[in-house]
Amino acid sequence: MKRKDFFLFFLIPFAGIFIIFFVFSSINRAFIQRTVEGLIQEQLQATAEILRVNISHFLEEGIAPEMIIKRYADEENIYYMALLDRDNRIISWSSRYEGYLPFSARDASQKEPWIISSPAGKIFNLLTPVPLDNEAPYVLYLGYSLGSLEKMAARSKRNFLFAFAFLASVGIVFFIGIFGLQRKYLEKKKEAEEEKKEKERFKEISALTSAVAHEIKNPLNSLALLCELLHKKGPAEVKEDAALGKEEVHRISRVIDQFSDALRPLRLKKEKVYLRDLIESARRAIQLDPEKSVVLLRYKEDRPVVLEADKDLLARAFFNLLRNAFEATESGSVSVTAERRRKKVTIRVEDTGRGIAPENIGRLFDPFFTTKETGLGIGLYLARKIVEAHEGKIEVESKLGQGTVFIIQLPGGPYE
Ligand code: ADP
Repeated sequence: MKRKDFFLFFLIPFAGIFIIFFVFSSINRAFIQRTVEGLIQEQLQATAEILRVNISHFLEEGIAPEMIIKRYADEENIYYMALLDRDNRIISWSSRYEGYLPFSARDASQKEPWIISSPAGKIFNLLTPVPLDNEAPYVLYLGYSLGSLEKMAARSKRNFLFAFAFLASVGIVFFIGIFGLQRKYLEKKKEAEEEKKEKERFKEISALTSAVAHEIKNPLNSLALLCELLHKKGPAEVKEDAALGKEEVHRISRVIDQFSDALRPLRLKKEKVYLRDLIESARRAIQLDPEKSVVLLRYKEDRPVVLEADKDLLARAFFNLLRNAFEATESGSVSVTAERRRKKVTIRVEDTGRGIAPENIGRLFDPFFTTKETGLGIGLYLARKIVEAHEGKIEVESKLGQGTVFIIQLPGGPYE
């Protein structure tokens, strides 16, 4: 799925759900708040009515307004209370917040209850004549707490925010997961496509090279025979040149063989092999330069390492590694150590030679990469191909001027 389709497919529906949730819960919250506000107002009005009846009763009994107000001073939900005369002058009052009686000339004309916001929260206000008849000499002014409504609104807001945050986090986690999966999928797809292309190109090159190699090898064989003949039966003055020619023809032939080998798909003939024997046969095949100071080959293993491998191919891979190591080392040592852990064998081919420049490390296993004048750049390419055909891997670590180590990991063979 492309990134754009992916957005359409996942992100837009999710954003839609998110918006719908937001709109619905906002409407729902406003509706609940309005309903509860209405209910509380009704309830408060009923309470005020009872209060008015009680106060009228007290007044009829001749109890002084101050005493009546005092009786209600400790009521939890009454913030403040006042008795006014018909001209709205305050006769007596009390407030749970000392000195706080928010009564103004504008409030005196209110017919309906009203709500104010105070430092102590929302307060429901009400003016009602007492006693009950129309000619009543007093007006009762009441301020009730709307704390429970506020608490409910705060709780509802908190729940809403919690649900919102939860939904958002689930969405974020979901999208991070989906994006990660999609990126991995795209990367894998790209890798697979590149691998496929690479394989096709390799197949083409391989077919071309083997055709060319075949075409060259036949005339080359005839040339080698001719040189041989000239060397044996030709006049004395051409003998030396004929020998040189024969050597050159052999060299070309070897180069062609190496190219063909590198490009040919590998077919493994696996058998039980001792690593020690492989290393020994690879070492024997190397011609040490007598001009160099002693370069030792040390082989060390914690216990005999046995592999299920193609003996000739693996010996060839180690030959390539050892040959490079010897070539790079003027003095010092080349060593091979093997270690077996569970079902894995780790082999280190180490030298104290000239090392590899960091910029070359990444290209080392590329076919035809060489820094040598007469090199072909096939040795390491082939070594890696052989190791990977054995389901192993090969890595390199190197310090310029200090030495190089090739680390090969192979699946272990049967235990002894
Ligand atoms: P060739 O030996 O024909 O150059 P290889 O594929 O065997 O081809 O090696 C590629 C290059 O890797 C070499 O030219 C050399 O620069 C570098 N190389 C390989 N092994 C070592 C080593 N042990 N020490 C230093 N350089 C190395």
